Amino acid sequence: LTVLALESSCDDTAAAVVRGRPGAARVLSSIVLGQNDLHADFGGVVPEIAARAHAERLDICVKQALTQADLPLSAMDAVAVTAGPGLIGGVLSGVMCAKGICAGAGLPLIGVNHLAGHALTPRLTDGVAFPYLMLLVSGGHCQFLLVRGHDDFSRLGGTIDDAPGEAFDKTARLLGLPQPGGPSVQAEATKGDPKRFRFPRPLLDRPGCDLSFSGLKTALLRARDALIADQGGLTEQDRADLCAGFQAAVVDVLAEKTRRALALYMAETPAEPVIAVAGGVAANTAIRAALETLSSGTGTRFLAPPLALCTDNAAMIAYAGLERFAAGQSDDMALSARPRWPLDQTRPAMLGSGK
Ligand code: ATP
Ligand code: FE
Repeated sequence: LTVLALESSCDDTAAAVVRGRPGAARVLSSIVLGQNDLHADFGGVVPEIAARAHAERLDICVKQALTQADLPLSAMDAVAVTAGPGLIGGVLSGVMCAKGICAGAGLPLIGVNHLAGHALTPRLTDGVAFPYLMLLVSGGHCQFLLVRGHDDFSRLGGTIDDAPGEAFDKTARLLGLPQPGGPSVQAEATKGDPKRFRFPRPLLDRPGCDLSFSGLKTALLRARDALIADQGGLTEQDRADLCAGFQAAVVDVLAEKTRRALALYMAETPAEPVIAVAGGVAANTAIRAALETLSSGTGTRFLAPPLALCTDNAAMIAYAGLERFAAGQSDDMALSARPRWPLDQTRPAMLGSGK
């Protein structure tokens, strides 16, 4: 099977071609056109600007993906598209564009949940068998998923407020470090003392796999303001120590909650236990190291896909579409764009019933 996919749910316009079968597919092309330059002046993604950029560039992106794969549209078996969750203007642009391609070329249309795309990436990169445990940590998401099948996900827990990527980005902003915050906070943290500031480890005292990161951000803000009130400003060392303290707290919380999620997962007695990560925050070396230690302690394989497939891309959407198509699932022209779409309801809704 060869599947073309479109992704436009946030601030990246992406298209890709993936070929193969479930558990054994490869990426023939993957194009990601970022929009950072368009949103840089606004301190965040502006939905209206994002939607316009997607609408303008999706066709270019699709053309580039076909060219890179060196295949004509007629060589495709189906077209997959992110049908949610995400910024509705962007998702609509993608769904409309995909419907146009399908109508014009007479191809089947497959709606894909963006989070399912992230969650199925380890099957694309490493052909991992079900069930596996997935930690999705990005700028917008943080959740533990028990992946039992291509459309069978159980959410074991997740953030009750901010996503960790968001917390890294806000920390960078509070300390005057460049965006995106993840890499700059991580770089500062390597120069700092993680013990000088003891930040809270939210929700560790409560059972379950839910996480919280907003209190951590508030604690960091207070520590920063206390230093400024005391000394009139922040030294290089203060900045590094604040980053180190912040990162240590994030690592501790993620490690403990992952330990609990791992215990729930191991209760399913998987033959070849795997814990995989996805999302931009998975690039963090301290977080990776902590998760690797945890997994090796339980004889579990730790898997971090290449970063380009961890962050938003269309190859994961093409692959998730391929899984649906191989299972005999597809959609018709009534496929709706859904701003909200929890993963445990993976089948796309028809028009009217979408929430
Ligand atoms: P989503 O995919 O959930 O819609 P997004 O597009 O913002 O959100 P990603 O592109 O997956 O998310 O990841 C970007 C996030 O990853 C940013 O918040 C960034 O700060 C964070 N990040 C990147 N590198 C690191 C790192 N080394 N350490 C921690 N965080 C990082
Ligand atoms: Fe994403």
